[in-house]
Amino acid sequence: MVVEPTVGILAFQGDFQKHRELLASMEVDARLVRAASELDGLSALIIPGGESTTIGMLLDRFDLIRPIRERVAAGLPVLGTCAGAILLAEDIEGSNQPKLGVMDITVARNAYGRQIESFEADIELEAFDQPLRGVFIRAPRITRVGRDVEVLARFEGDPVVVRQGRLLAATFHPELSGETRIHTMLRAAVPAASSSTASR
Ligand code: GLN
Repeated sequence: MVVEPTVGILAFQGDFQKHRELLASMEVDARLVRAASELDGLSALIIPGGESTTIGMLLDRFDLIRPIRERVAAGLPVLGTCAGAILLAEDIEGSNQPKLGVMDITVARNAYGRQIESFEADIELEAFDQPLRGVFIRAPRITRVGRDVEVLARFEGDPVVVRQGRLLAATFHPELSGETRIHTMLRAAVPAASSSTASR
């Protein structure tokens, strides 16, 4: 029997429902995650956009930082969007807020200035013929990428989609423009075996 792999969405705060709706439109089974036990059997995990200080504080309070790090070390694919990308970063400029810190990148929060706190832009990815529509909301800037980090897309010279092994980070919100291709990349990072061993 083939068990449909379940993608977890961290659901403490932020736009987790938008990720859920997007996965539903892709006919992907999703589970909202608020406790370590809900990480069991997941094929991938999404850290949504929202407020990274709040999500980080709740990750810490509900003792999820270590269990997520352990699963990342064991190969769990993770996608972080906007605040999610901040939480994946090893370094957050000028902040010691709680974080997962699993990707070798540095980010600067709210880095696009007051006048353009939110904007949309077409983002070119080499893998795709058509650009992605990126919705940036008080987005971070990725200011450093480590040696093992691939830059998959840039906007105005700055990396906006990066990958390190099975970890993906986007500084914008693909889920708000109905863009499924980033989520498809997350699913593509899932090792084939996990589709038959996923358990609940
Ligand atoms: N500015 C937010 C933060 O620092 C991120 C914004 C977002 O996720 N849209 O956490």
